Amino acid sequence: MEYLYTVENIKRILGPWEHPEIQLSECRICSNLPENVSKVNVPSRNEFGVFPNEVAKLEEFILVKYTWQILKCPVCGRLYTDEYHYESLVGGGEDEYLISRIEYADALELLKGIKAKKLIKDGARWLVSW
Ligand SMILES: [Zn+2]
Repeated sequence: MEYLYTVENIKRILGPWEHPEIQLSECRICSNLPENVSKVNVPSRNEFGVFPNEVAKLEEFILVKYTWQILKCPVCGRLYTDEYHYESLVGGGEDEYLISRIEYADALELLKGIKAKKLIKDGARWLVSW
């Protein structure tokens, strides 16, 4: 399935998640996740950060780039951004992963700011295409 990258179509995809049906405190996944959570890996020093277990339970929802995507809680539908940054340092780089809970309106603003061409459905997730 393919849609043109328009605000109407973004709303169609995000729309069902505008109003989560349960409170944050009632969601067994979201209630155990802080608003922002990050981890840093430093492969050259053999240091690897750890996320709370709940992070792995979030589902890929909209893949924008390989460095950032939108995740969705399978229980309540709350949205998260998943960002990856690489920092090049002397003696080896650092990989930083950041998960942040965002409101529907923020997700919409973020996606509206992208100059993409299409939204392509790939299984349960959407891919942004240029
Ligand atoms: Zn949730």
